[in-house]
Amino acid sequence: MSEKPPVAVARAAVNQKNETLGTYIWIWCPGCDQAHTAVVPDDRGIPKGRVVFWSWNGDVDNLTIGGSILVNAGQEHPDYPLCHSFVRDGRIEFLGDCTHELVGQTVDLPPLPEWLARDYGAEHG
Ligand SMILES: [Zn+2]
Repeated sequence: MSEKPPVAVARAAVNQKNETLGTYIWIWCPGCDQAHTAVVPDDRGIPKGRVVFWSWNGDVDNLTIGGSILVNAGQEHPDYPLCHSFVRDGRIEFLGDCTHELVGQTVDLPPLPEWLARDYGAEHG
């Protein structure tokens, strides 16, 4: 890959009946040092039988996700941080309940690891 990887990828998902499962948005969280994902409605609407919490602006280069992303609520996984954030204009805003070192800070979304951009972004490249 010659260009810098994108900061987000979006990929439509379908089930075995070709019914939409929504569009999965993938970002790399610099607080957790792992991928986070949000599911948004795609152009076929909201996935049947699912609750969709998020929306997005359709722009992976300047990503805004409507609704906060909460990972590891209640720290069910004690070895990982609780992470609560908003993504706006390509930046990630960490809220005050994060347990990692970027708590309370707003930083640029980092480029995705190449494996993530390649494996999850293929249909949108
Ligand atoms: Zn995180």
